[in-house]
Amino acid sequence: MKIGILNIQGDVSEHFHMIQRLKGKYHVEPVNVKTLADLKDLSGLIIPGGESTVIYKILKKSGLYETIKEKAGSGMYIMGTCAGAILVSRDTGDKTVEGMDLIGITIKRNAYGRQIDSSIQTIDIKNTGKFEAVFIRAPRIESADGSTVLASMDGYPVMVREKNILAMTFHPELTGDERVHEYFISMIES
Ligand code: GLN
Repeated sequence: MKIGILNIQGDVSEHFHMIQRLKGKYHVEPVNVKTLADLKDLSGLIIPGGESTVIYKILKKSGLYETIKEKAGSGMYIMGTCAGAILVSRDTGDKTVEGMDLIGITIKRNAYGRQIDSSIQTIDIKNTGKFEAVFIRAPRIESADGSTVLASMDGYPVMVREKNILAMTFHPELTGDERVHEYFISMIES
């Protein structure tokens, strides 16, 4: 199956390589997604971390925003990481980035401030276990109505799932640990 990596800005190649590395273990093929045509026949799409305001603007301009929203509504699996989590959220409280409302989370950009502007924290992911999570100017999930919380930190969710949508506020593509990507693949396969 084809897994797209939204290639606008941010950690595109890291996610691409992660899926490429998993090719031997699962029937997956990474695909660069830049245009509407690239969305054809995808089973899943990864929206990487980066700068959500920039990604948002280009998504809107290219028509990808509406089409991704539509496809997710009819079952395409999406994994949004950091800026990607902001983009799939219900409410950002921020006019410069409007979430696609694919998952019922309220999220606040850059909410952790200086202390964890960037840091690596050990989190505990449900059914996966301990995971070194890299946070870079991370947003905070303030509420997660209707979604399953898979991991939390300091009382706030950092990884959530609702139906075909998976969102996390850290960067699973940066540590070489493939388990979050494997979890996303298993969501699609089951
Ligand atoms: N602070 C960024 C934003 O609001 C997200 C940071 C990230 O993706 N690492 O877009």
